[in-house]
Amino acid sequence: MNSDSVAMTDLSGMNHKLETVCIFGTGDFGRSLGLRLLQSGYSVVYGSRALKNSLLLPKGSKVMSHTAAACEAHVIFVAVQREHYGFLSSLASDLEGKVLVDVSNNLRRGLYPESNAEYLSRLVPGAMVVKAFNTISAWALQSGGLDANRQ
Ligand code: NAP
Repeated sequence: MNSDSVAMTDLSGMNHKLETVCIFGTGDFGRSLGLRLLQSGYSVVYGSRALKNSLLLPKGSKVMSHTAAACEAHVIFVAVQREHYGFLSSLASDLEGKVLVDVSNNLRRGLYPESNAEYLSRLVPGAMVVKAFNTISAWALQSGGLDANRQ
């Protein structure tokens, strides 16, 4: 291959599925992230308070209760505002040993004494919490990097 060229992986022909990942929250970010993950070959299950939200979800994904969805995956993206994290403490035993991805942002700096990831870790002490994707907008996930630059 020429040193001035880059081989891009063609994902359209992928005939095998990667692992199942879970997303809590069927809002703007959860839907956009789920679409990208599906396009990348992952199976996606949503944990949601309302199964009727499935009408808006990317084709090929599934939606179920938080507990059922957590059982399906090792990695769980928490696409819910920090203000609503409280419900996660009641799922602590289901989330034991799982990787929780905190994608959240706050409305302003210094709003809370601890970071959102630290708070999440306190609510679910048996999980491994990582911070990621919070600097990517739902719009950028759906539209791709070039279009997102117009924001
Ligand atoms: P959103 O459209 O309002 O969706 C949030 C989702 O959280 C709701 O659809 C709902 O899902 C769930 N939820 C709401 N209240 C809840 C409660 N009381 N208990 C449990 N779940 C509840 O917000 P979003 O824009 O997707 O943002 C989600 C997270 O992503 C936030 O932390 C935000 O900071 C972060 N983020 C967003 C963007 C972005 O561009 N939008 C970019 C970076 C990071 P169900 O109805 O399915 O339960």
